[in-house]
Amino acid sequence: MNSEHKQIVFASRNKGKIKEIQKLFAQYNYKVLSLSDYPEIADIPETGTSFEENAMIKATTVFSILQCPVLADDSGLEVAQLNWGPGVYSARYAGEHASDDENNRKLISELHGLPHPHSARYRCCAVYYSADKSLIHFGDLNGRIIDTPSGSEGFGYDPYFIPEGYFCTMAELTLEEKNRISHRGKAFKLLLNALLHGEIL
Ligand code: IMP
Repeated sequence: MNSEHKQIVFASRNKGKIKEIQKLFAQYNYKVLSLSDYPEIADIPETGTSFEENAMIKATTVFSILQCPVLADDSGLEVAQLNWGPGVYSARYAGEHASDDENNRKLISELHGLPHPHSARYRCCAVYYSADKSLIHFGDLNGRIIDTPSGSEGFGYDPYFIPEGYFCTMAELTLEEKNRISHRGKAFKLLLNALLHGEIL
């Protein structure tokens, strides 16, 4: 590994998220490992009731095992007509180990018959945690849910989510475009800014 690289572990096994974070941090010479590089670490139960609580649980659990700087996020989709759910339950909306397809099917069936637009937002809480400091930042993205999927990029609810001001779904954006506007891109850019400007030891 290039000695100029700073190494950090992202506390996630979500391939879509990992790609986004690696892309964002690569520009600043960070090599981002993830839990896919540590198969011995068990899945971390998300027992919190807020994005912030869950992101902190992931960050501190992985830090306590690896004792190295850690990034974590907790994120989800909030839909106005579903009382701002599924929120922190987004990954397990259709059941504990539900696939993206199963979650999407449940979302569309819950919204069936309700008037358009189905206003929604993505939200993300991003955490940096090390022996010296912890940092927490938030990002969100407003948009709406459509009934018919489009696009094959991204992950999760992206094929059904049209960002405000756009005429295509999140799954039709490139990785760079998604990172530029997304809830996760915004939250982690704030974290990066703090890291790069020495707010972190
Ligand atoms: P987490 O891993 O507990 O934070 O769950 C995140 C879940 O929220 C994902 O499994 C998706 O269902 C949803 N989600 C969060 N961010 C995104 C995104 O950028 N695109 C699509 N779905 C997302």
